[in-house]
Amino acid sequence: MFAAAAIAAAVAVWIALTIQPRRLALPPPTDGTIAGVIHIHTNRSDGLSGPDDIAAAARRAGLAFVVFTDHGDGTRRPDPPAYRSGVLCLDAVEISTTGGHYIALDMPAAPYPLGGEARDVVEDVRRLGGFGIVAHPDSPKLELRWREWGAPVDAIEMINPDSGWRVRAQERGWRAKLTLVEALLDYPFRPAETIAGLLHEAQDLPVRWAALTERRRVVTVAGVDAHAKLPLRNADPGDSGFALPLPGYESSFRVLSLRVRLERPLSVMSGSPESAAEDAAIVVRAIRAGHLYTAIDGVATPPSLEVTASNASGTAHPGDELAAGSPITLRVRTNAPRPFTTAVWDGARIVSGDHREQDFSVALPDGPAVYWVSVRSTERTPELTWARSNPIYVRRPSPVTRPLVRAPARENQPLFDARSAAGWRVEQDVTSAAAMELAPMFGGPELRFRFGLSGQISPPPFAALVFDTPGGIAPNDRLTFTIRAERPMRISVQLRAPRESGEAERWQRSVYVSATSEERTVFFDELSPVGATETLKPPLNLIRSVLFVVDPVNTKRESSGRIWIKQAVLQR
Ligand SMILES: [Zn+2]
Ligand SMILES: [Zn+2]
Repeated sequence: MFAAAAIAAAVAVWIALTIQPRRLALPPPTDGTIAGVIHIHTNRSDGLSGPDDIAAAARRAGLAFVVFTDHGDGTRRPDPPAYRSGVLCLDAVEISTTGGHYIALDMPAAPYPLGGEARDVVEDVRRLGGFGIVAHPDSPKLELRWREWGAPVDAIEMINPDSGWRVRAQERGWRAKLTLVEALLDYPFRPAETIAGLLHEAQDLPVRWAALTERRRVVTVAGVDAHAKLPLRNADPGDSGFALPLPGYESSFRVLSLRVRLERPLSVMSGSPESAAEDAAIVVRAIRAGHLYTAIDGVATPPSLEVTASNASGTAHPGDELAAGSPITLRVRTNAPRPFTTAVWDGARIVSGDHREQDFSVALPDGPAVYWVSVRSTERTPELTWARSNPIYVRRPSPVTRPLVRAPARENQPLFDARSAAGWRVEQDVTSAAAMELAPMFGGPELRFRFGLSGQISPPPFAALVFDTPGGIAPNDRLTFTIRAERPMRISVQLRAPRESGEAERWQRSVYVSATSEERTVFFDELSPVGATETLKPPLNLIRSVLFVVDPVNTKRESSGRIWIKQAVLQR
């Protein structure tokens, strides 16, 4: 009895010593923004609750909108925007690629499953008109970390609590483990503060982002990645048999938020489907434009942050552009409490730091820059970027930049002619079907390829059109062909080399195929390995087959279709 009481007392003292300070209550904001949260999983994928319960939790947390991002391949039509419990609910999707997770917002249902390489998913989301957000780019878990920094992404999650606890879980030594145990003990008393205390700021992420902004706009957001489930292993959210119902949605919603500047207030009161659609369009437009900042509410809330940049050409807000050419005055107004420090950045470089005033101006030069503002929770636990604005892009009128064009091919080696499709054949797994024929057409013959994928799960079914090239494909450096399909799809162009060690190795580049004939060129130095290969790039002299592959990466199982190819040529 006495021992139990002593242990309870000891735990109580421990909690009292380790618990994060209560979040600061700040004066009401004056920046005219609304609060919302993106990156939420419902029970449609691996979250705990349905949209109604989640919206009710969002209302209790004081949010105006939420964005659901259940895992998927983009083929599900998103639910129309709706008001639930007075909270505007938007439906988006989080797509798994081989290079990390990518959220697609404001995108219609995709005509085929989106997946495979990150560069292709980014391209598909863009073509479909969606707004793509890199999710948890800094995750310590390799499969979740973003690895395709060359792709034209629209936005990046600069902070995500999921990465935070994974970092602690992977740290060596008892100290990190102890932090997690403390967090579990402290959580019931101050949930939002406890989760905020585990947030991790990646050092290289702001540098990567800044590099991207030199040429184009990239919106910064914060993702809450709410599941209301905590897997007990360092697994993918949801794939562990045992998960704690932690942290709850409401607590997650009090950790961090987007603060969005809208072109007009939301019409919450009417709550009709029409008004939900119109309001959603306004919220999405603001997010797309980067008219927002992020705040860690678990440290201090509600935040207020206004940034403007003015020069002779006018005044710009974060997310927008200002014409370079005359000196700039950048003004900051915030309700940040006294010890917090505000800094003005140009990309990855601080140009004016350590401001403790709540209202100040900075004189800046007239040249191009990417100005943004951070407020750090200095002298507070945790000490991190409490508020982060989007940038004001100071640009010169840019000369028309042409995309990088390669030298035109000087030599062609046709792969089939009017009379013969010699060298061509089909391949498929035992459960699928494939057939080809050469059809004479006005303007040149056409290879017709028909496929039917089975429903087999493993190994994945496939159907391929194959051209055998016994002497290799060197010294060519590209393959050009004119292609169309019955319906929009994505196929994988592959080079295959037999290996002495046994199984052949392949390299691939997937291409989008539409219902109208279009010329496509695949450069061999842009191919990437399929699985593990001896060399990163294909050894062109050892290649024995060129393949056009249809498989479940981008084609539904149990589906069939037709593809037509004209004028396939190896070039250099
Ligand atoms: Zn994810
Ligand atoms: Zn997620």
